[in-house]
Amino acid sequence: MIRVGIGYDSHRFAEGRPLILGGITVPHTHGLTGHSDADAIAHALTDAILGAAGAGDIGRLFADTDPRWKGADSIVLLRAAHGVVLAKGWRFVQGDITVLCEQPKLGRYFPQMADRLAQALDVSSEVIGLKAKTNEGMGWIGRGEGVATIAVATVERAP
Ligand code: MG
Repeated sequence: MIRVGIGYDSHRFAEGRPLILGGITVPHTHGLTGHSDADAIAHALTDAILGAAGAGDIGRLFADTDPRWKGADSIVLLRAAHGVVLAKGWRFVQGDITVLCEQPKLGRYFPQMADRLAQALDVSSEVIGLKAKTNEGMGWIGRGEGVATIAVATVERAP
């Protein structure tokens, strides 16, 4: 038995923050703002997995008003969310992720990101798909104001 979930996340660029995406630090002039490390890739994938398992969403598990999650490593949150999914009798199988931003170019970092995301979920990095798109200069993404990510995940009934 297989189920599918979708996740979306966005964060705004700001100066003086490291850019953390897919669990790695990407060299860039700006980072992303947020209560945690603002890793939009990890957050979208987390929501997709939670959604697939009918286990709520990242904001319910890790409220952005809770001081425990201030500056949190989103890879740790991803692993913890998968723990909730496992406890409900589901296991992550595969994820496919599209990142939208004009800059920086992310493709060369995808192998490292896939490794980190896969490690957090105890799977092979081959089951993590990562794709990058610009928004062709349109809207807030096109103006370089932030990053958006869409993720789809499948889970299977854990034996
Ligand atoms: Mg987020």
